[in-house]
Amino acid sequence: MKKITIAIDGYSSTGKSTIAKQLAKALGYVYVDTGAMYRAVTLYAIRKGFVSETSEDFDSLIAALPNINLKFVHNEKLGFSEMYLNDENIEKEIRTLAVSSQVSKVAAVKEVRTKLVEMQKAMGKEKGIVMDGRDIGSVVFPDAEFKVFMTASPETRAHRRYKELLDRGDDVTFDEVLKNVRSRDHIDSTRKESPLILSKDAIEFDNSDMGLIEQFERMHNYALRIIEKQ
Ligand code: C5P
Repeated sequence: MKKITIAIDGYSSTGKSTIAKQLAKALGYVYVDTGAMYRAVTLYAIRKGFVSETSEDFDSLIAALPNINLKFVHNEKLGFSEMYLNDENIEKEIRTLAVSSQVSKVAAVKEVRTKLVEMQKAMGKEKGIVMDGRDIGSVVFPDAEFKVFMTASPETRAHRRYKELLDRGDDVTFDEVLKNVRSRDHIDSTRKESPLILSKDAIEFDNSDMGLIEQFERMHNYALRIIEKQ
């Protein structure tokens, strides 16, 4: 059967990665979490002191981009790929609120996007890929056969992210998480470089009141119908 490209975009904490992973598993496709790549560059920038709550030095970050080596390594035990920055497994560290608070600033830098989009396009050359992010259907794979735009209310999304962070043992308040969700929504959808937009050919999917099983069944059926038509 012919393989297709599946692009899943949407606001933060809409469950993009959950559905993307499920679809990739069911179809035998590769899953790529592009948010992890922007988070990895952000972690590098924080460690080097290029970005903080109060300052940013994007010129130094841009100059350092060639020193940032990113790769996904499949973890057999967990059943998914983990993000590596210069050969260090940073999967846990990139999910903290410290990184979430800086990532949208870093992701708005044109040179950062150019580097990561080039890597993402290369990963999808053979199709058979499910990629999630903010600009996958609009910039990375404008010809993707199946484009989804995920959305849910900010409160629903903040609750999900808050629970996730608490489960991992992070010390955060719900208000901090809601503030971060709203702030990232704003930066991601108003930035000059590849803002988050609803492409004309994407299906809008609001999962505020939808369970995971129903969501998966709907998307899976949709994907199968598109694949059959190829
Ligand atoms: O998907 P996730 O919430 O992990 O993404 C973290 C941040 O990375 C987003 O808020 C956004 O600023 C940025 N991002 C992006 N383009 C992508 C993926 C993520 O700008 N394709």
